[in-house]
Amino acid sequence: MKLQTPEHAQPAHGLAAQAARPVICYPVGGLQGPDITAIRAARPGWERRLSVLVPPREARCFDVGAGEFLRISCVGGPQVGDLNLWNAANLKERFFSGKTRALHGTHLSTGDRMWSSLPYLRAMATITEDTLDWYGFDGFGGAVHDVIGTRCDPYTHNLLSGGQYHHCCHSNLSRALAARLGLSVQEAEFHVHDVLNVFMCTGFTRDTGQYFMKASPVRPNDFIEFFAEIDLLGALSACPGGDCSTAHSSDGAACHPLLVEVFRPLAAPLGWVPSPANGYDRSHGP
Ligand SMILES: [Zn+2]
Repeated sequence: MKLQTPEHAQPAHGLAAQAARPVICYPVGGLQGPDITAIRAARPGWERRLSVLVPPREARCFDVGAGEFLRISCVGGPQVGDLNLWNAANLKERFFSGKTRALHGTHLSTGDRMWSSLPYLRAMATITEDTLDWYGFDGFGGAVHDVIGTRCDPYTHNLLSGGQYHHCCHSNLSRALAARLGLSVQEAEFHVHDVLNVFMCTGFTRDTGQYFMKASPVRPNDFIEFFAEIDLLGALSACPGGDCSTAHSSDGAACHPLLVEVFRPLAAPLGWVPSPANGYDRSHGP
Protein backbone atom coordinates (compact mmCIF):
# COMPACT_ATOMS: atom_id res chain seq x y z
CA MET A 1 0.00 0.00 0.00
CA LYS A 2 1.15 3.51 -0.75
CA LEU A 3 1.83 5.78 2.23
CA GLN A 4 -1.08 8.12 2.87
CA THR A 5 1.12 11.17 3.52
CA PRO A 6 3.99 12.25 1.25
CA GLU A 7 7.40 12.04 2.91
CA HIS A 8 8.89 14.78 0.75
CA ALA A 9 8.05 18.49 0.67
CA GLN A 10 6.88 20.09 -2.54
CA PRO A 11 9.83 21.68 -4.38
CA ALA A 12 9.83 25.23 -5.77
CA HIS A 13 8.62 24.11 -9.22
CA GLY A 14 5.97 21.84 -7.74
CA LEU A 15 2.89 23.99 -8.25
CA ALA A 16 3.84 24.92 -11.80
CA ALA A 17 4.51 21.27 -12.60
CA GLN A 18 1.06 20.29 -11.34
CA ALA A 19 -0.59 23.12 -13.29
CA ALA A 20 1.04 22.28 -16.64
CA ARG A 21 -1.52 21.16 -19.21
CA PRO A 22 -1.44 17.53 -20.31
CA VAL A 23 -0.41 16.63 -23.83
CA ILE A 24 -2.02 13.70 -25.66
CA CYS A 25 0.78 11.14 -26.04
CA TYR A 26 -0.45 9.55 -29.25
CA PRO A 27 -2.72 11.75 -31.35
CA VAL A 28 -4.51 9.30 -33.65
CA GLY A 29 -5.88 11.91 -36.06
CA GLY A 30 -3.22 11.00 -38.58
CA LEU A 31 -4.03 7.28 -38.59
CA GLN A 32 -5.54 5.99 -41.80
CA GLY A 33 -9.04 4.55 -41.60
CA PRO A 34 -11.08 2.74 -40.73
CA ASP A 35 -13.90 3.47 -43.17
CA ILE A 36 -16.75 2.33 -40.90
CA THR A 37 -19.41 3.26 -43.48
CA ALA A 38 -17.80 1.09 -46.15
CA ILE A 39 -17.30 -1.80 -43.71
CA ARG A 40 -20.92 -1.66 -42.52
CA ALA A 41 -22.11 -1.57 -46.14
CA ALA A 42 -20.72 -5.11 -46.51
CA ARG A 43 -23.19 -6.51 -43.94
CA PRO A 44 -26.38 -6.96 -46.06
CA GLY A 45 -26.68 -10.56 -47.23
CA TRP A 46 -23.87 -11.79 -44.99
CA GLU A 47 -23.89 -15.45 -44.00
CA ARG A 48 -23.59 -16.58 -40.40
CA ARG A 49 -20.68 -18.98 -40.67
CA LEU A 50 -20.19 -19.85 -37.01
CA SER A 51 -22.13 -19.72 -33.77
CA VAL A 52 -20.55 -20.64 -30.45
CA LEU A 53 -22.20 -20.41 -27.05
CA VAL A 54 -19.61 -19.77 -24.35
CA PRO A 55 -20.82 -21.40 -21.12
CA PRO A 56 -20.59 -19.49 -17.82
CA ARG A 57 -17.13 -19.69 -16.19
CA GLU A 58 -15.70 -21.30 -19.33
CA ALA A 59 -14.04 -20.11 -22.53
CA ARG A 60 -14.21 -21.14 -26.19
CA CYS A 61 -11.94 -20.56 -29.19
CA PHE A 62 -13.11 -19.52 -32.67
CA ASP A 63 -11.65 -18.47 -36.03
CA VAL A 64 -12.48 -15.21 -37.73
CA GLY A 65 -11.13 -14.80 -41.27
CA ALA A 66 -9.82 -11.45 -42.52
CA GLY A 67 -12.84 -9.58 -43.85
CA GLU A 68 -15.35 -11.40 -41.62
CA PHE A 69 -17.39 -9.92 -38.77
CA LEU A 70 -17.28 -11.13 -35.15
CA ARG A 71 -20.22 -10.37 -32.90
CA ILE A 72 -20.29 -11.00 -29.14
CA SER A 73 -23.79 -10.86 -27.66
CA CYS A 74 -25.30 -10.91 -24.22
CA VAL A 75 -27.80 -13.74 -23.84
CA GLY A 76 -29.59 -14.79 -20.69
CA GLY A 77 -28.44 -12.04 -18.34
CA PRO A 78 -25.77 -9.44 -17.57
CA GLN A 79 -22.35 -10.97 -18.16
CA VAL A 80 -18.90 -9.69 -18.98
CA GLY A 81 -16.36 -11.44 -21.21
CA ASP A 82 -12.59 -11.50 -21.54
CA LEU A 83 -11.41 -11.49 -25.17
CA ASN A 84 -8.03 -12.64 -26.50
CA LEU A 85 -7.01 -12.36 -30.17
CA TRP A 86 -4.07 -13.91 -32.01
CA ASN A 87 -2.88 -13.85 -35.59
CA ALA A 88 -4.23 -17.25 -36.71
CA ALA A 89 -0.92 -18.02 -38.44
CA ASN A 90 1.44 -16.77 -35.71
CA LEU A 91 0.55 -16.86 -32.02
CA LYS A 92 3.42 -14.50 -31.23
CA GLU A 93 1.35 -11.72 -32.76
CA ARG A 94 -1.40 -11.11 -30.26
CA PHE A 95 -3.59 -8.33 -28.94
CA PHE A 96 -1.62 -5.52 -27.22
CA SER A 97 -3.98 -3.97 -24.69
CA GLY A 98 -1.36 -1.48 -23.44
CA LYS A 99 -0.68 0.14 -26.81
CA THR A 100 -4.37 -0.02 -27.73
CA ARG A 101 -5.07 1.91 -24.50
CA ALA A 102 -2.32 4.43 -25.30
CA LEU A 103 -3.81 5.01 -28.75
CA HIS A 104 -7.56 4.97 -28.08
CA GLY A 105 -7.94 5.57 -24.35
CA THR A 106 -9.07 3.46 -21.43
CA HIS A 107 -12.28 2.08 -22.98
CA LEU A 108 -13.07 1.11 -26.58
CA SER A 109 -16.10 1.68 -28.75
CA THR A 110 -17.12 1.99 -32.40
CA GLY A 111 -14.27 3.11 -34.68
CA ASP A 112 -11.51 2.02 -32.30
CA ARG A 113 -9.18 -0.80 -33.27
CA MET A 114 -7.50 -3.64 -31.46
CA TRP A 115 -3.74 -3.45 -32.14
CA SER A 116 -1.21 -6.27 -32.14
CA SER A 117 1.95 -6.75 -30.08
CA LEU A 118 5.46 -5.64 -31.03
CA PRO A 119 7.22 -6.17 -33.35
CA TYR A 120 4.04 -6.44 -35.42
CA LEU A 121 1.82 -3.53 -34.29
CA ARG A 122 -0.98 -3.39 -36.81
CA ALA A 123 -4.75 -3.33 -36.60
CA MET A 124 -6.14 -6.80 -35.83
CA ALA A 125 -9.82 -5.81 -35.63
CA THR A 126 -12.00 -2.73 -35.87
CA ILE A 127 -15.09 -2.18 -33.71
CA THR A 128 -18.02 -1.65 -36.05
CA GLU A 129 -20.91 -1.45 -33.57
CA ASP A 130 -21.40 -1.15 -29.81
CA THR A 131 -24.93 -1.07 -28.41
CA LEU A 132 -23.53 0.22 -25.09
CA ASP A 133 -22.01 3.35 -26.64
CA TRP A 134 -24.73 5.40 -24.91
CA TYR A 135 -23.07 4.79 -21.52
CA GLY A 136 -20.09 7.10 -22.00
CA PHE A 137 -18.30 7.97 -18.75
CA ASP A 138 -20.41 7.95 -15.57
CA GLY A 139 -19.98 10.14 -12.49
CA PHE A 140 -17.37 7.79 -11.02
CA GLY A 141 -15.29 7.81 -14.19
CA GLY A 142 -16.56 4.35 -15.11
CA ALA A 143 -17.08 3.23 -18.70
CA VAL A 144 -17.63 0.02 -20.66
CA HIS A 145 -15.25 -2.28 -22.65
CA ASP A 146 -11.96 -1.49 -20.92
CA VAL A 147 -8.35 -2.07 -21.84
CA ILE A 148 -7.11 -0.93 -18.40
CA GLY A 149 -7.71 -4.15 -16.47
CA THR A 150 -6.14 -7.50 -17.05
CA ARG A 151 -7.81 -10.89 -17.09
CA CYS A 152 -8.80 -12.27 -13.68
CA ASP A 153 -6.30 -14.97 -12.80
CA PRO A 154 -5.66 -17.56 -10.08
CA TYR A 155 -2.20 -16.24 -9.27
CA THR A 156 -3.45 -12.82 -8.14
CA HIS A 157 -6.30 -14.56 -6.35
CA ASN A 158 -3.78 -16.74 -4.53
CA LEU A 159 -1.64 -13.75 -3.57
CA LEU A 160 -4.61 -11.90 -2.11
CA SER A 161 -6.58 -14.74 -0.55
CA GLY A 162 -4.43 -17.88 -0.67
CA GLY A 163 -7.11 -19.85 -2.48
CA GLN A 164 -6.95 -22.27 -5.39
CA TYR A 165 -9.68 -21.23 -7.82
CA HIS A 166 -9.71 -22.78 -11.30
CA HIS A 167 -12.28 -20.80 -13.29
CA CYS A 168 -10.70 -17.37 -13.53
CA CYS A 169 -10.62 -16.05 -17.10
CA HIS A 170 -6.88 -16.79 -17.36
CA SER A 171 -7.51 -20.47 -16.61
CA ASN A 172 -10.62 -20.62 -18.79
CA LEU A 173 -8.72 -19.13 -21.74
CA SER A 174 -5.75 -21.43 -21.09
CA ARG A 175 -7.94 -24.58 -21.10
CA ALA A 176 -9.78 -23.48 -24.26
CA LEU A 177 -6.55 -22.70 -26.10
CA ALA A 178 -4.94 -25.95 -24.92
CA ALA A 179 -7.89 -27.94 -26.27
CA ARG A 180 -7.82 -26.03 -29.53
CA LEU A 181 -4.09 -26.38 -30.18
CA GLY A 182 -3.40 -29.75 -28.55
CA LEU A 183 -1.07 -28.17 -25.99
CA SER A 184 -0.83 -28.78 -22.27
CA VAL A 185 -2.65 -26.14 -20.26
CA GLN A 186 0.73 -25.10 -18.81
CA GLU A 187 2.07 -24.45 -22.33
CA ALA A 188 -1.09 -22.75 -23.48
CA GLU A 189 -1.15 -20.23 -20.64
CA PHE A 190 1.99 -18.55 -21.99
CA HIS A 191 -0.07 -17.47 -25.01
CA VAL A 192 -2.90 -15.99 -22.92
CA HIS A 193 -2.59 -12.23 -22.64
CA ASP A 194 -4.33 -9.15 -21.31
CA VAL A 195 -7.78 -8.73 -22.70
CA LEU A 196 -10.45 -6.48 -23.98
CA ASN A 197 -12.90 -6.59 -21.09
CA VAL A 198 -16.09 -6.91 -23.15
CA PHE A 199 -19.18 -5.35 -21.49
CA MET A 200 -17.27 -4.76 -18.22
CA CYS A 201 -17.82 -1.39 -16.50
CA THR A 202 -14.61 -0.14 -14.91
CA GLY A 203 -12.50 2.86 -14.09
CA PHE A 204 -9.94 4.24 -11.66
CA THR A 205 -11.08 5.80 -8.39
CA ARG A 206 -10.50 9.54 -8.42
CA ASP A 207 -8.93 9.70 -4.94
CA THR A 208 -6.62 6.67 -4.91
CA GLY A 209 -6.37 5.79 -8.59
CA GLN A 210 -7.40 2.19 -7.89
CA TYR A 211 -8.94 -0.02 -10.53
CA PHE A 212 -12.65 -0.49 -9.82
CA MET A 213 -15.55 -2.41 -11.32
CA LYS A 214 -19.29 -1.91 -11.04
CA ALA A 215 -22.38 -3.66 -12.36
CA SER A 216 -22.28 -3.88 -16.14
CA PRO A 217 -25.20 -2.14 -17.87
CA VAL A 218 -25.29 -4.93 -20.49
CA ARG A 219 -28.62 -6.67 -21.06
CA PRO A 220 -29.76 -9.51 -23.35
CA ASN A 221 -29.54 -8.54 -27.06
CA ASP A 222 -26.74 -6.03 -26.43
CA PHE A 223 -23.70 -6.76 -28.56
CA ILE A 224 -20.31 -5.52 -29.67
CA GLU A 225 -19.22 -6.21 -33.23
CA PHE A 226 -15.75 -6.34 -34.80
CA PHE A 227 -14.42 -6.50 -38.35
CA ALA A 228 -11.36 -8.73 -38.69
CA GLU A 229 -8.45 -6.95 -40.37
CA ILE A 230 -6.28 -10.13 -40.49
CA ASP A 231 -7.00 -13.86 -40.03
CA LEU A 232 -7.71 -14.26 -36.32
CA LEU A 233 -7.86 -16.96 -33.70
CA GLY A 234 -10.01 -15.68 -30.85
CA ALA A 235 -10.91 -16.89 -27.40
CA LEU A 236 -13.63 -15.56 -25.13
CA SER A 237 -14.15 -16.33 -21.43
CA ALA A 238 -17.49 -15.77 -19.69
CA CYS A 239 -15.97 -14.26 -16.53
CA PRO A 240 -16.78 -15.85 -13.14
CA GLY A 241 -17.55 -12.29 -12.01
CA GLY A 242 -20.84 -12.37 -13.99
CA ASP A 243 -21.86 -8.70 -14.27
CA CYS A 244 -18.88 -7.85 -11.97
CA SER A 245 -21.07 -5.99 -9.48
CA THR A 246 -19.67 -7.77 -6.44
CA ALA A 247 -16.91 -10.35 -6.73
CA HIS A 248 -14.84 -12.36 -9.14
CA SER A 249 -12.42 -15.26 -8.79
CA SER A 250 -15.11 -17.38 -7.11
CA ASP A 251 -18.36 -19.16 -7.93
CA GLY A 252 -20.27 -16.57 -5.89
CA ALA A 253 -21.64 -14.41 -8.72
CA ALA A 254 -24.59 -15.19 -11.00
CA CYS A 255 -23.13 -16.05 -14.41
CA HIS A 256 -24.60 -16.35 -17.89
CA PRO A 257 -23.41 -17.58 -21.28
CA LEU A 258 -22.13 -15.30 -24.04
CA LEU A 259 -22.87 -15.82 -27.74
CA VAL A 260 -20.08 -15.60 -30.34
CA GLU A 261 -21.11 -15.35 -33.98
CA VAL A 262 -18.99 -14.98 -37.11
CA PHE A 263 -20.52 -13.53 -40.27
CA ARG A 264 -19.04 -13.77 -43.76
CA PRO A 265 -20.06 -10.94 -46.11
CA LEU A 266 -20.90 -11.54 -49.76
CA ALA A 267 -18.04 -9.27 -50.81
CA ALA A 268 -15.21 -7.36 -49.16
CA PRO A 269 -15.91 -3.75 -48.17
CA LEU A 270 -15.18 -1.26 -50.95
CA GLY A 271 -11.51 -0.28 -50.89
CA TRP A 272 -10.62 -2.56 -47.97
CA VAL A 273 -7.41 -4.57 -47.88
CA PRO A 274 -6.12 -6.74 -44.99
CA SER A 275 -4.00 -4.91 -42.44
CA PRO A 276 -0.46 -4.54 -43.86
CA ALA A 277 2.68 -5.39 -41.90
CA ASN A 278 4.14 -2.53 -39.85
CA GLY A 279 6.52 -0.31 -41.80
CA TYR A 280 9.35 -0.17 -39.22
CA ASP A 281 12.41 -2.03 -40.56
CA ARG A 282 13.37 -3.63 -37.21
CA SER A 283 17.05 -2.67 -37.57
CA HIS A 284 16.90 -0.67 -34.28
CA GLY A 285 19.84 1.47 -35.31
CA PRO A 286 23.58 0.75 -34.94
ZN1 LIG B 1 -12.61 -12.71 -15.50
